[in-house]
Amino acid sequence: MSNLVTVDQERALHLLQTVFGYPAFRAQQGQIVDHVVGGGDALVLMPTGGGKSLCYQIPALIRNGVGIVISPLIALMQDQVDALAEVGVRAAFLNSTQSLAEALRIERMMRNNELDLVYIAPERLMTPRCLELLSATPLALFAIDEAHCVSQWGHDFRPEYIKLSILHERFPDVPRIALTATADQQTREEIIHRLQLENALHFISSFDRPNIRYQIIEKDNGRKQLLDFIQAQHAGDAGIVYCLSRKKVEETAEFLNEHGITALPYHAGMEQKDRTRNQARFLREDGIVMTATIAFGMGIDKPDVRFVAHLDLPKSIEGYYQETGRAGRDGASANAWMAYGLQDVVQQRRMIAESEANDAYKRIQGAKLDAMLGLCETINCRRTHILEYFGQAALACGNCDTCLTPPRSFDGSVAAQKILSTIYRVDQRFAAGHLIDVLRGIDTERVKQWRHDQLSTFGIGSDKSEAEWRTHLRQLIALGLITVDYENYSALKLTESSRAVLKGEVQIQLRQYRKAEKAVKHKRQSAKDFAESQLSESEQAIFERLRWWRVETAKAHNIAAFIIFHDSTLREIAKAKPRSLADLRGVSGVGAKKLESYGEDLIKLIADFS
Ligand code: ADP
Ligand code: ZN
Repeated sequence: MSNLVTVDQERALHLLQTVFGYPAFRAQQGQIVDHVVGGGDALVLMPTGGGKSLCYQIPALIRNGVGIVISPLIALMQDQVDALAEVGVRAAFLNSTQSLAEALRIERMMRNNELDLVYIAPERLMTPRCLELLSATPLALFAIDEAHCVSQWGHDFRPEYIKLSILHERFPDVPRIALTATADQQTREEIIHRLQLENALHFISSFDRPNIRYQIIEKDNGRKQLLDFIQAQHAGDAGIVYCLSRKKVEETAEFLNEHGITALPYHAGMEQKDRTRNQARFLREDGIVMTATIAFGMGIDKPDVRFVAHLDLPKSIEGYYQETGRAGRDGASANAWMAYGLQDVVQQRRMIAESEANDAYKRIQGAKLDAMLGLCETINCRRTHILEYFGQAALACGNCDTCLTPPRSFDGSVAAQKILSTIYRVDQRFAAGHLIDVLRGIDTERVKQWRHDQLSTFGIGSDKSEAEWRTHLRQLIALGLITVDYENYSALKLTESSRAVLKGEVQIQLRQYRKAEKAVKHKRQSAKDFAESQLSESEQAIFERLRWWRVETAKAHNIAAFIIFHDSTLREIAKAKPRSLADLRGVSGVGAKKLESYGEDLIKLIADFS
């Protein structure tokens, strides 16, 4: 290996610094750029926020011709093109939202090699007209974004993606770079196979998102716990709250608004125009909380989402990781918070049981849910658990709830026996609430009616609270020692594996119940406070002023605020207090074009302040 820097490498670094304003490549970015510039194919797996875009944007600038980006996310193309225009890159998109005249204009520019990057939706690309256009256009590369959409087993499958193999057949000399944040081996193989990327070099980054803190708490009143969490740690921050149902999305948004938090709903049952409006506000304004079903979020690349909260259990670790991955793309600290309880387990199991799918599919869904439950119930590091699920070895992280406050486990065999034998004694005909009443020896009407106070197990669990028994029950369901009969009022039933526990042949480790602590205001721990604590009081004032300037400027230019500058850049400006354009040039995130557009304004603003 030679350490010589090639002309192209020098060129790439120069573009990174002058156009994008960043001092250095991150992780494998430099190698990927180098490989694609040289005409090679690449498969890039990088977590959300890792910096995938630069991997094709810079090669498209260096290579002759137009770079074609295939992306399913039509709604985001405008922002992507705006962001590139802001740094002086000639970009455009072709999709169904634009007028014919506009499309014709862009097609002409493509043929004349007057654009650096063009974003195209896959269904558009496959039309004979578009393929003909590509044949007449000098092409720098194809970037296939969200490449996992090619996977039929994945949750984002797009049939048009399968047809993308045509690119290789029609344009064998144009390098292709496929990018995704979905990690597992099966998806990876499907991408290679279906897109004919057998000769591509693989660039696989660590999937760890060290700036995200994972936290899964015992649910008792989820909405109230969410409110405490936001008020204590995320006042004024942008965040996403995921709920399972449309109704819950609406109710949660309303509840947060009643408590002074600006929250907007988003789900598939809303009118398209309302959804688009809410998404645009979330992207453009500061500090909005989006309450949403999982219909929201794919491709949302708002960098300063400070938290992602789950009020309901996700169906799989893949989904959980993808959703939580939308927090902290800018690299600053962020929280992934979830409240989880017995009802979640029951509800998800029921949804699988009642779905119309065939048995093979239900088995896969069941296994994915079990893995998710394993993550919720683990007493070990959450991050290690997630990364190992994706096939990556890792050490305990020190930045998740189980690392920070290790939960205790105890020999729960006796507790499990009490539960299982009570289920047996009530003839496996009652749901959780009644069962816990019997265990705790509570004289309810129903207990009297069924004479369950006569049972030998009546009151054998009076030493524990209702919440504690719920936690134990939940774990036994998660472990498969109890099933829930959805067709019979959610009655709890024993399973094959219960007998060994009842006979004392196996030992059960349970996670000790811990009353959910009231979220305390950790000055230091909150992501926002931490980042801002690095600014002095006067710098903080400048930062606030800069944010205000950014809002005004974004409005005037009709673009999203973060496209102008990220918080991290504004924070650095507040610290550096530049007096000249030369001072400002050194700040990360300030490239040549932005220096020209905003430099004078900023210098004046800082001067006015001192
Ligand atoms: P991805 O598509 O992988 O989720 P992006 O390409 O959107 O990530 O990049 C995430 C963020 O990181 C963006 O705000 C981007 O400007 C920033 N970024 C990317 N590469 C660098 C770099 N080398 N130095 C500094 N910031 C970077
Ligand atoms: Zn950890």
